Amino acid sequence: TAETDYELIGKNEVLAFYEPRKKYSHKGTYGHSLIIGGSYGKIGAVHLAAKACLHTGSGLVTAYVPQCGYTPLQTNLPEAMVITDAAEKHISKIDFDIEPTVIGLGIGMGKDTKTVNALGQFLDVNKTPLVIDADALNILSENEEFLDKLPPRSVLTPHPKELERLIGKWDGDFQKLEMAKSFSQKYDCVLVIKGSNTLTIYDGKGYVNTTGNPGMATGGTGDVLTGMVTGLIAQGYPPLQAAIFGVYMHGEAGDTMVEDTGYQTLTASKLIEGIGEAFLDLF
Ligand code: AMP
Ligand code: MG
Repeated sequence: TAETDYELIGKNEVLAFYEPRKKYSHKGTYGHSLIIGGSYGKIGAVHLAAKACLHTGSGLVTAYVPQCGYTPLQTNLPEAMVITDAAEKHISKIDFDIEPTVIGLGIGMGKDTKTVNALGQFLDVNKTPLVIDADALNILSENEEFLDKLPPRSVLTPHPKELERLIGKWDGDFQKLEMAKSFSQKYDCVLVIKGSNTLTIYDGKGYVNTTGNPGMATGGTGDVLTGMVTGLIAQGYPPLQAAIFGVYMHGEAGDTMVEDTGYQTLTASKLIEGIGEAFLDLF
């Protein structure tokens, strides 16, 4: 209905729930993020997400990847721990012996049959909060029964194509919003519709982001967002706030970096470098 509340999200709105770092804290205070994803040729996605998660302040970050991801991640991202799947090129069974605070799931993961089965079995037992992106969203779209297994208030971060697979084709913006709202209500999930002015939907309300720029229309920037939102949940932000805050900071990091690079040359790696300044710019 036309009663949807919309809120524009700028600096004041995110400062309202920003939690400063505490002096007497330690890495355990800021949570343990697990990033699950990657496949042969797409380990970079996990690298970007894990690095963005670290730069957003997660106390610990572990990546769960197929074996081909072990060497590149350990070589290039020493701050992250790595757990490997039994299989070489695709995730085949999601099996780990740590207790993460939150899991960022799906980037670069592919849709191998083994990976689909692994995801279904994992969702049957999982109770950890989830941030779900990319191929995990596509797998959910193709296996609707998986959607009923999501923990409450999971954060889903589709770009427009992934959204269409998830909620179906719409006819105009009004219908798109209605469908997105009812999907979010049906599965009790925070739906982050990415694009220019990313719209976060939860409980019939919409939150419209005001940061970001077309320089961010380049491969890997979505993986960076997944890592950032995951890292904020690790630190104790509730899922809706983590999504709104993460989307804002992600755009702000992009706006900061294009001042150096210009739109054309902005990359996902550069975007990560801008996260620190985006935090500094809050004050
Ligand atoms: P993905 O398609 O998964 O890589 O995600 C792309 C990311 O870049 C999302 O967070 C989008 O919101 C952001 N993005 C892409 N294009 C634009 C744009 N024209 N303006 C602002 N943000 C954008
Ligand atoms: Mg993506």
